[in-house]
Amino acid sequence: MQRWTSQLSTILNIVYEAEHFLSAEQVYRELRGMEKDIGLATVYRNLKKMVSQGLISEVSWNDVRYYTRHPFSNAFFVCEKCGNMIRVDIPIADQNYLSDEIGMQVSGWRMTFRGICRRCE
Ligand SMILES: [Zn+2]
Repeated sequence: MQRWTSQLSTILNIVYEAEHFLSAEQVYRELRGMEKDIGLATVYRNLKKMVSQGLISEVSWNDVRYYTRHPFSNAFFVCEKCGNMIRVDIPIADQNYLSDEIGMQVSGWRMTFRGICRRCE
């Protein structure tokens, strides 16, 4: 249990401190860099658990799942040149408000901006 908890918080920190969305593989590489002995399957399992607990959010892009810290921001910018994915924190995702407003149960949303990132400009 202790092991699970410490793995969870280590992975959570990586996702929370990252400026960009991270795939499970990228989280795994970070862990290796920190000389943490956590397998890729465990990383996947932990990420899935954190998503189900609402600690982080998940988006899929080109069949790869990416993770980010902000559970209320599902908006992201994708560079059409390099594929870099950047989180966009815009405060429009009040799901309760939306549910009331349109009279339907909103369970999620996603907004994608596309263009050229600063690096590629
Ligand atoms: Zn770019």
